[in-house]
Amino acid sequence: MDKIKMTTPLVEMDGDEMTRILWKMIKDELLEPFVELKTEYYDLGLVCRNETDDQVTIESANATKKYGVAVKCATITPNAARVEEYDLKEMWKSPNGTIRAILDGTVFRAPIKVKGIEPCVKNWEMPITIARHAYGDVYKNVEIKVPGAGKAELVFTGQDGTQLRETVFDFEGPGVIQGQHNVTASIESFARSCFTYALDTKQELWFATKDTISKQYDHTFKDIFQEIFDQEYKEKFDAAGITYFYTLIDDAVARVMKSRGGFIWACKNYDGDVMSDMISSAFGSLAMMTSVLVSPEGYYEYEAAHGTVQRHYYKHLNGEETSTNSVATIFAWTGALRKRGEMDGLTELMAFADNLEKVCIETIESGKMTKDLALITELADPVVLNSEQFIKEIRKGLEQIYA
Ligand code: NAP
Ligand code: MG
Repeated sequence: MDKIKMTTPLVEMDGDEMTRILWKMIKDELLEPFVELKTEYYDLGLVCRNETDDQVTIESANATKKYGVAVKCATITPNAARVEEYDLKEMWKSPNGTIRAILDGTVFRAPIKVKGIEPCVKNWEMPITIARHAYGDVYKNVEIKVPGAGKAELVFTGQDGTQLRETVFDFEGPGVIQGQHNVTASIESFARSCFTYALDTKQELWFATKDTISKQYDHTFKDIFQEIFDQEYKEKFDAAGITYFYTLIDDAVARVMKSRGGFIWACKNYDGDVMSDMISSAFGSLAMMTSVLVSPEGYYEYEAAHGTVQRHYYKHLNGEETSTNSVATIFAWTGALRKRGEMDGLTELMAFADNLEKVCIETIESGKMTKDLALITELADPVVLNSEQFIKEIRKGLEQIYA
């Protein structure tokens, strides 16, 4: 067959450890034999980040603004142990944090559903996508441990000197206080990313806060979402036949549990942190979660939700066999290729992405899977494959389609 053509490059961000090993296998076995892959390559592996003083991360994010679509491998976020292990010049920041700061966006995480790996919640027939606001609130708070009796106040001093002041509490004894903030521009871009992604994936959008209790803070989130929806998105939602739904966070949690799935759940920063772990574990496995950063300008960066699978990498380095699940990393590629196809009007490329996803799902549903899934599947007698065998099995499925 003739290889499928691309017209514009994708930004390719390579990464670390076991996922870097999988990355190469995926390209060699599943992509390059079928697609004339055009990528602009950035090595975000820790060695190269260290050599370039992390400039490579910044350049890759800027390239994403230029081309619109990126695919990223999992990367190490250095801590003290990694500084020693890799002899780092500095404890470089999280690449995801750096990229997000440049692209300014919201991360959407969705489980990949397959028969035989059933969610704990029986009525979840379709995936639930979590959209987490990734700025502010308790993650950028200031706190004071109150030593004893006294008055705590919240004071804002404007540039012209005018002050706004509220009493937090008149303490009669020791206690604790906390100050949180968010900024309008960030909430607005969160809202636009959510509405854009809902239209993109033709799914309903839910948003929830505790505005009845937090009459200024949470209410601001609610108002910003509603205003932007009414002014910029309502007509588009109507045309697409989807809805925007706001409710209280506790009501949302109750409704999510009883839902059939198939919607996007936009969450404030803390709610998103907590709920995404709940959703991913209830759907089965972190190795089956996709993740995409969507900027308010419509730039997309696709990746797997899991990390570099360090424990498996050390086994690999020892020459031991690994059974690492490559599905979420493959879906990062298919997400990016499909989006590239959509932007460039390449129907064959979009069909290839669909086919590759279909083959992954069919392979697992036929009982052939990696160990993490074999441990939780309801299918009888699953065949446990190693990292390479699993990818080779998917290759066979693709070859049947593209004979
Ligand atoms: P992790 O890489 O997600 O792995 C945690 C555990 O989950 C693994 O040890 C493994 O369990 C299981 N697992 C995750 N993905 C799997 C897969 N594809 N197939 C099979 N099992 C899988 O998280 P971590 O060990 O906490 O972090 C390792 C490194 O990744 C860290 O340096 C961290 O900074 C980085 N990280 C990067 C990203 C990112 O780039 N987006 C996200 C998170 C973490 P078993 O060991 O029980 O088999
Ligand atoms: Mg968390």
